[in-house]
Amino acid sequence: MSSDITRKKGQSGRAVVVQCIQCGKMVPRDKAVEKRKSSLPLDHRLRELLKKQGTYISAAKRIVYYCVSCAKHRKYV
Ligand SMILES: [Zn+2]
Repeated sequence: MSSDITRKKGQSGRAVVVQCIQCGKMVPRDKAVEKRKSSLPLDHRLRELLKKQGTYISAAKRIVYYCVSCAKHRKYV
């Protein structure tokens, strides 16, 4: 079952499994709740400024996933 993930057969983006950061459960990405976590030391205004200048600060941005129950618990849904 898990070998299906590594096999790419046309359907890109489907059956992608992510891990819930809270409980470690593996959940399909379309069911998981996506949260952008910014660990940047910059404040919001500085970030907007950088964005206007065309600086894409992707490296410091982290996308985390929660399963449905954890997201509910944290009131993300
Ligand atoms: Zn969870």
